[in-house]
Amino acid sequence: MSFSDLGLRAELLSAIEAQGYTEPTPIQRQAIPAVLEGGDLLASAQTGTGKTAGFTLPMLQRLADGKRPAKRGVRALVLTPTRELAAQVGESVRDYGQHLSLTSHVIFGGVGQQPQVDAIRPGLDILVATPGRLLDLQQQGHVDLSGVETLVLDEADRMLDMGFIHDIRKVLKLLPAKRQNLLFSATFSNEIQTLANQLLDRPTLIEV
Ligand code: AMP
Repeated sequence: MSFSDLGLRAELLSAIEAQGYTEPTPIQRQAIPAVLEGGDLLASAQTGTGKTAGFTLPMLQRLADGKRPAKRGVRALVLTPTRELAAQVGESVRDYGQHLSLTSHVIFGGVGQQPQVDAIRPGLDILVATPGRLLDLQQQGHVDLSGVETLVLDEADRMLDMGFIHDIRKVLKLLPAKRQNLLFSATFSNEIQTLANQLLDRPTLIEV
């Protein structure tokens, strides 16, 4: 099986080739077609499995296929537990999306917020964020999440371990009811299961 069998467009295949990937990993084989179809996803996957490309590639394709709304705001929101992971995901979004004209930015705490405010103010296709800084900026009126089409919770178990559940719930209240939800977690505690039950609508289940 090759990436072209998964229904990805030429711009993405060319970026994948530039990364030197020759074939999709098991999670990519399952996640890419499911995410392209627009449904929800619940994936149990450790780091190193290729999970980032598993959600980023089809998310980019859907955004490129869709219409950018006239209003400012964010179309796809990826939440991560740490700034390191946010930066990594942001880099993947840029690498894989290099031939598509989509805009993205990464925000996290511990650094000045003005450059982040300036970057997100015009509206963005993809925002990668840690929950605390996202809420700070939202509460100050700098980010509009009311048009989010796709939500990704990456390493959801670590987000809960780090005490982000209240922040996540606050973010969920800011999103439109109709959207695609992708939840990635290395482990499945009762708490993750509860969140998944509340968040996901008939998700495709993937375990690798
Ligand atoms: P992740 O699990 O998303 O953190 O990815 C782990 C590493 O695998 C990253 O360095 C990716 O660049 C790499 N990777 C992702 N997909 C593939 C693939 N299909 N073939 C080879 N390497 C990959």
